[in-house]
Amino acid sequence: MVSTLVDHLRRIVGSAHVLTRDGGTDLSAWEQDWRKRAHGQALAVVRPGNTDEVVAVVQACAAAGHSIVPQGGNTGLVVGSVPDDSGSQVLLSLTRLNRVRAIDPANLTLTVEAGCVLQAVQEAADRAGLLFPLSLAAEGSCTIGGNLATNAGGTQVLRYGNARELCLGLEVVTAQGEVWHGLSGLRKDNTGYALRDLIIGSEGTLGIITAATLKLHPRPACRLTAWAAVPSLDAAVALLGLAQGRLGAGLTGFEVMGQFALSLVDRHMPQLRIPLWQQAPFCVLLENSDSESESHARSQFEQLLESAFEDGLVTDAVVAESLQQAHGLWHIRESIPLAQAEEGLNIKHDISIPVSRIPVFCAETDALLQREIPGVRLVNFGHLGDGNLHYNVQAPAGDDPATFLRAHEERVNTLVFDQVARHQGSISAEHGVGSLKAAKLTHYKDPVALGLMRQIKQALDPQGILNPGRVLSP
Ligand SMILES: Cc1cc2nc3c(=O)[nH]c(=O)nc-3n(C[C@H](O)[C@H](O)[C@H](O)COP(=O)(O)OP(=O)(O)OC[C@H]3O[C@@H](n4cnc5c(N)ncnc54)[C@H](O)[C@@H]3O)c2cc1C
Repeated sequence: MVSTLVDHLRRIVGSAHVLTRDGGTDLSAWEQDWRKRAHGQALAVVRPGNTDEVVAVVQACAAAGHSIVPQGGNTGLVVGSVPDDSGSQVLLSLTRLNRVRAIDPANLTLTVEAGCVLQAVQEAADRAGLLFPLSLAAEGSCTIGGNLATNAGGTQVLRYGNARELCLGLEVVTAQGEVWHGLSGLRKDNTGYALRDLIIGSEGTLGIITAATLKLHPRPACRLTAWAAVPSLDAAVALLGLAQGRLGAGLTGFEVMGQFALSLVDRHMPQLRIPLWQQAPFCVLLENSDSESESHARSQFEQLLESAFEDGLVTDAVVAESLQQAHGLWHIRESIPLAQAEEGLNIKHDISIPVSRIPVFCAETDALLQREIPGVRLVNFGHLGDGNLHYNVQAPAGDDPATFLRAHEERVNTLVFDQVARHQGSISAEHGVGSLKAAKLTHYKDPVALGLMRQIKQALDPQGILNPGRVLSP
């Protein structure tokens, strides 16, 4: 039966695009997740080249009773895109679906296939003189299909929203192997249930995204970046309010970085010169996207920072003098996850809290963790403007990271998530649930919402073949 399915898949997509361990191929790139938290075993890695082939693969797997794990760039951080270790799941890689199908500059839309790498999507928009603003550190390898399946956030959410807000239409292959042709470029369409919004963020559990029509924006005349040392998280939140008032929609980025997070970049990437990090507990990166001119943006920034100095919200600041300097500052921010990975395994939390509560949340939770595990190190950084913190917990200096994780992960997660719940936050702001947080979701999600989610899954995928065990635990 198994070899019959693999043969069938070979006939659908061509032998070169069905990879198996028996065929002698090393499948680690598809079977292991980015953080090396899980290494499963796939029956086969199947790489269809178009939507019709995806349909045929889904139908074949459904008929044979084998479940499917969709995968884009495999940069997900919650173990959602790799197979389990049963050896029976089909890993469906979408990366060969990578064509730009259409661009409509007057409608400000771009239609691309799911396997397009995010950076290629940005570049396609740029070539048309427009902006696709979704931006994250993994943009050189993650795909737009994965971005939509996880409703990715990134650094521009403050102004442009999450991936959901940047998508107008989808083409989706259902669990039954039908195609929903939903590639609408409409900004207004009130004809029933919001199926697009249901599929976005469903992490491959409700349908396979094969293409998307994306919303583009006019390119700003200038993007200016500043880096400020702030004396506390309270000051960072107050600075955010000031910047929102002064820059309005021009404020496209507001990232906070704790001193320990920056010290890891300094240690593991010594070639990067990080401004001001040793003189304050937090640094903030601000971006002002201006539709007028660079001199306008610069004078806005100068006035903002002047007021912030006077109010004691900023102790020192630099404004990038060139695009290269601006990229350098963003590069420091985006290097934090990589520096952290260099330091060793850690317990990651991608949480959101109402912005107003972030300082008290951190003060309380830092203290509780220090009491539980003296010497524990907190890698705190994130998209403060969106109330989204990467509140990560690293072993005390000198402790073995793997032993630390085994001994403390469960306890630390419970402590942090209980605090998140107390402050009316979310245990997953942008990375999603995957299998890493599926059990936790059962505990922290509203039971009625959870019940509705189970009913939706049952209705759309009654056989349970799409990414089982992800989002909803069995
Ligand atoms: C260094 C680094 C920085 C990151 N920064 C951010 C950040 O700032 N913000 C953020 O939100 N995330 C971030 N991430 C997480 C990750 O990049 C995003 O979740 C990204 O959207 C995943 O895209 P992908 O193509 O790699 O998807 P994958 O990892 O391959 O898959 C992710 C999930 O989507 C499903 N999936 C993939 N493609 C499809 C498809 N076509 N149809 C249906 N389901 C599909 C998979 O089954 C899986 O559940 C970061 C990751 C790294 C490594």
